[in-house]
Formats: sequence, structure tokens, C-alpha cells
Amino acid sequence: MAEWRIDIPESEAATGSGCASPAAGTTAISRSAAALLREAATRTRHSFRTGLRGLIGIVYPPTCIACQAATGDAQALCPACWRGIGFIERPYCERLGTPFPVDLGAGLLSPAAIADPPVFARARAVCRFDGTARELVHRLKYGDRVELSLTLGRMMAQAGRELAADADLVLSVPLHRTRLWRRRFNQATALARVVSRETGLPLATTLLTRIRRTRQQVGLTRTQRADNLQGAFHVSTAMRGLVEGRRILLVDDVLTTGATVNAASRALLRAGASAVDVLTFARVVTDGREVTT
Ligand SMILES: [Zn+2]
Repeated sequence: MAEWRIDIPESEAATGSGCASPAAGTTAISRSAAALLREAATRTRHSFRTGLRGLIGIVYPPTCIACQAATGDAQALCPACWRGIGFIERPYCERLGTPFPVDLGAGLLSPAAIADPPVFARARAVCRFDGTARELVHRLKYGDRVELSLTLGRMMAQAGRELAADADLVLSVPLHRTRLWRRRFNQATALARVVSRETGLPLATTLLTRIRRTRQQVGLTRTQRADNLQGAFHVSTAMRGLVEGRRILLVDDVLTTGATVNAASRALLRAGASAVDVLTFARVVTDGREVTT
């Protein structure tokens, strides 16, 4: 069966107060006494939690999620690391999401998008894959810092709000099961989970599978990457009903040449998806040079 999960905001997911209605025959006095006791207990719990948070703050003061310098808030960036993020904003290619150096008007496509159109419809990213962004992605991916997905995913939901408004569901680029086993978690799924929660779009984690184990893409040229991913993704016949006619928002951590998301998009379109948009935290901006990093 499909794992078809809709994340519920924490406030809504929380259980009720746990206080049953007063039993029949309880007097007004005992009711108000019970209410006072409940209020006192709530206050004690609240001050205990506040105290505990304060204590944790003293023992583990909040640090920058990229460089670990002291910060005012938990899960935040220090001013220097914030300045080290190359945010991508319009003007950019409406198809590839690559930034334009000058604003030549709305709705323009880059020469790369015209010469070699991608399989996906549109790609958007929070920032360029360099400086702070590179550090954050490496920490998320290889440093077992899954909690980073909260901050990065929220930034992605903001950068991808136009794509989310048109999408029917969120998907992450899957890892092959052996790689998932070795790495313990899929960073793309962790990000997709936050994007789903922030946008209210359902998250489908098992629609798309990686059926072929591929070589690491690092160090491969654009052509080699595309060849490496031939037939790597698959939508099973049982899952086709969930894909047919739907516009999909595909989430990954980094867009490099686009070979991975193109291969995943191709599998989804073959299974009947109406369109695929791609949302990543960072993207490589090469100004036309071949990427081998
Ligand atoms: Zn920092």
C-alpha cells in the first residue's frame, strides 16, 4: 500500500487537555477547586518546562547551524553565515531558475533552457550551492544533522511558494535502499517533510522508487551523469493511480546538472503526472561551465 501521509501541524496534533468533564452531582465549589488545582498544575508544568529550556540554554547555548558561533536563537544562522548565502531571487530563468545578471523583463528563459529544455517544468532553489549553503548541505547529508532540515525546509517552502500553489503533492528524490541503509536517512525526504508541513501539501514518500543503484554522481560530467541515471527511477503500476493527472513538486537538497531530477521527472511523467516542478535548497550556478564537483 502507498504511504500516503499528510503531516498535521504540531499544535493540531497535540492531544486534548486530558481533563474529563466533571462527574454529575459535583458541586460548583468542588468544580472551582478542581479548576484551581488544574490551573496550578498547568502553571507548575509550564514553569518547569521554561526552567528546563533555560537550563538547556545555559548548558548548551544556541549556536549557528553552519559555523557553530554563538547565536541568540536556536536553529538560526549567525550574521556572517547569513551574509554568506547567495540567495536566488528574480530576475531568473523561469524554467531553470538560474539567476540573470541583469533584469531584461519578466518571463524570460535562459539560452540553456531553450537549447536543452529540461524534463521538469520549473526549478527553484533558495540559494547558490557555495559558501554557507555548501556547508549546510554537507552537514545535513553527511553529518547526521537531520534537525537542519527544519530551517532549510522552511526556507525552501518560502522560495518555492509559487510552485507549491500549483502542486497537488510533494515527493522527494529517493535513495537506493542500500545507500539509505548506509546513510540512515534520506536528506531529501527530511526536507520534503518540512515543505509538506509548511505548505499543507500531502507528502507521498513511496510513490517513486530508485530501482537501480547508480554510481556516485560526484566527479561525473553532465553526459556521464545522464547515462548513469538511465532507468534508475520507477513508479510501480500500483502507484500509477496516485500519479496520474497530478502536478508534482519534487524535492531534493541540491540541483547540480539537473540529471537526477530530469531522470526522476521522466519516470513520473511516464506514469501519467501532468507536470513536475523541482524545489531544492541550493543549486549550482556555473555560468555555462561544465560541472564536475
Ligand atoms: Zn555562522
